Amino acid sequence: MPNLNDIVEIAEALESKAVFAAEERCVVVRNRNAKCRKCVEACPSGAIEVGGNRLTYSARACVSCGACTVVCPTETLIPMRPLDEDLATSIAQACVLADGTAVFACARAAAKRTADPNRYAEVPCLARMEESVLMGLAAHGVSRLVLVDGTCKTCKYRACNPGIDATVASVNTLLEAEGISLRVERMSEFPEELRVEETTGLFGVSRRGFFTQAKDVAKDAAEKAAVTALKKELEKKAPSLRDRLKMNDKGSLPQFNAMRRMHVLDAMDTIGMPIADAFETRLWGNVQIDTEKCSSCFMCTTFCPTGALRKSEEAEDGKVHAIEFSTADCVQCRMCEDICLKKCITVSDVVSTSDLFDFEPRVIELPEPPKKAGLISNLKRR
Ligand code: SF4
Ligand code: SF4
Ligand code: SF4
Repeated sequence: MPNLNDIVEIAEALESKAVFAAEERCVVVRNRNAKCRKCVEACPSGAIEVGGNRLTYSARACVSCGACTVVCPTETLIPMRPLDEDLATSIAQACVLADGTAVFACARAAAKRTADPNRYAEVPCLARMEESVLMGLAAHGVSRLVLVDGTCKTCKYRACNPGIDATVASVNTLLEAEGISLRVERMSEFPEELRVEETTGLFGVSRRGFFTQAKDVAKDAAEKAAVTALKKELEKKAPSLRDRLKMNDKGSLPQFNAMRRMHVLDAMDTIGMPIADAFETRLWGNVQIDTEKCSSCFMCTTFCPTGALRKSEEAEDGKVHAIEFSTADCVQCRMCEDICLKKCITVSDVVSTSDLFDFEPRVIELPEPPKKAGLISNLKRR
């Protein structure tokens, strides 16, 4: 007979979340002055609220499109259905059967049953597609990259449509910078070679059916156990901001590695060094600090979620006189821009290829912090 803890654990495991929120990574949770609202703007169902050091995600309102997980610069929002790994596995299998053509279709396109379901991978919405999976396929030498939509104009989640175009443009810019001719194609019909006329027998539980069924089963189970879980939640003391941010004993904020971006860099490295000297991207940023205005407060290094901006080593006088910056670690979250009281930081979305692939950080020398006026200096001034 399971005890209460077992039941709560099962309920939590079955909770029908399409997205896991690692809230300590969110720039708004880290600092209430951060302006990022990309997830809120991208979500077609109002499932996310952000503000005042809080990120709230409603599993009930979520329609599992994945749009928020693609636009979040800090990878706070992690897709659970399908996971990136599952998506990569299913496309790898489909790609072999489709002779090297990698095709992704949304659930609406798949529901038309006009193509062999074994030869493409299905996602709830094409808004789930992002650079690491597509660039990974390019690095594996696929002959085509195709996204098949189900006529977004009439889809009830059509608000995701511009986001899908933005992803296609982002990947195509990277491919162009690489100097290869492969491009992501977006179509409203399956490629000819995948189409079938007689679909009977090919469709058991389709992948769409699988995801939908899994969602329904999980939702039912979660709902049945919700009362117990709720009771347990109410008994819990609300965690402090410090706990939610997973601060260490010294009060430092945690930093993380942006895994999807690392996969994109790996893929670019496999394809070959980009031929473009610089390119525009939403994935990485180029930080400039106006050292004339900088007060050397190091706030940017404290709040940067990835450590792209960090303090240099202490000099012989025991003080830090410089900041180091790594383009490859910068996720273009603009936290540093938002929190700098002197407004001396700018983040550009044009990155240089040599900076991106350079493992040595750029060193930015800072001015001496102004001396605080003390009693004696005040007396002298009089
Ligand atoms: S997956 Fe889609 S519906 Fe769910 S929270 Fe993210 S953007 Fe909103
Ligand atoms: S960092 Fe991510 S989760 Fe936080 S507000 Fe921006 S998009 Fe949303
Ligand atoms: S350097 Fe600035 S924009 Fe880049 S990750 Fe750090 S805080 Fe975000």
